[in-house]
Amino acid sequence: MIEIKNLSKDYGKIKAIKNLNFTVNKGEIMGFLGPNGAGKSTTMKIITGFIPPTEGTVIIDEMDIMDNDYQTKRKIGYLPENPPLYNDMTVKAYLKFVGEIKGLKKADLNARVNEVLGMLGIEDVANRLIRNLSKGYKQRIGLAQAIISDPDVLVLDEPTIGLDPAQIIEIRDLIKKLGKDRTIILSSHILPEVSQICERVAIINKGEIIAIDTPDNLSKKLKESNVIETRIIGEQEKVIEAIKKIKGVTGVEAIGEKEKGSIDYRIEADSQTDLRQDLFKVMSDNKANIIELKTVDLSLEDVFLQLMTNEAEVTEDKEEVENKEEKASGKEAEIKEDKEEKEEEIHE
Ligand code: ADP
Ligand code: MG
Repeated sequence: MIEIKNLSKDYGKIKAIKNLNFTVNKGEIMGFLGPNGAGKSTTMKIITGFIPPTEGTVIIDEMDIMDNDYQTKRKIGYLPENPPLYNDMTVKAYLKFVGEIKGLKKADLNARVNEVLGMLGIEDVANRLIRNLSKGYKQRIGLAQAIISDPDVLVLDEPTIGLDPAQIIEIRDLIKKLGKDRTIILSSHILPEVSQICERVAIINKGEIIAIDTPDNLSKKLKESNVIETRIIGEQEKVIEAIKKIKGVTGVEAIGEKEKGSIDYRIEADSQTDLRQDLFKVMSDNKANIIELKTVDLSLEDVFLQLMTNEAEVTEDKEEVENKEEKASGKEAEIKEDKEEKEEEIHE
């Protein structure tokens, strides 16, 4: 089990992650979803003990990653964003080398390396120099080194990046298989990927977790911004005007002529309103005919976008306030900056 408590990381003035709290249960595959720069890699580097946090703790199987460095680290397989591959080694020699470091017994080493080569479908390049291999192969070797010691916990930073579609499917299947009896946390900026592989998803943006749930629940949660698609015969402008007047409607757009003589519309309403009956009434009043009507489930992708936009708006507001405050206390800020610069020099 991985427990993340009040985790923050500052790089100088950049707050890469801010007070993260979440738990990944044993045998669970947790997805870490967010756009570039969200703080995914930073979180993973801290979880694996690669860099220290500015604040907070990471507990893995009841051990603090910072206290029990070596013992705990051996339980963890880590695929970093740039896997540390030795270009002048052959694939096999490299995996043996990593296996030894991770404490595998010499007698078991050969068999385990062969097994992992098979799992990742890279037997054919076992004796080639890493430097001569394609990005797809290098990514799979990165995964191979992460699982070589059969760790209980796997931390995979964008595991399918650089792979072709067929390889992506293979790696997803492999991760699912590995996840049956292991704890896995994997990051991605691709939504379908996490919803396919992961049991739970944490959505991270600008260093903060903005939602955490199963893919289904995330989908449900915001599904009910309540969207209807309908096909109507009638004059477009009039129809739109009439729909806009229905109580609870928050948006309407024409999405084209999919059937001759009619127009399709997408209507959004707040979640309390069931606008179907009103819609029929209003259309009949306007001598327009509804020939099709269906409610639309928003995909997690829409949820994601929605979360992102809402969050962005809030953050922008905050920033404006902060800017004003800064201007008001300009002198103080300057003095503080000087201080910070000096501190940074000392650290370097
Ligand atoms: P992600 O993996 O989600 O793309 P990262 O964790 O790599 O995000 O980065 C989060 C933020 O921290 C970004 O704004 C990035 O520029 C910044 N950052 C990451 N690593 C460093 C570093 N070593 N020094 C300074 N800033 C960094
Ligand atoms: Mg990253």
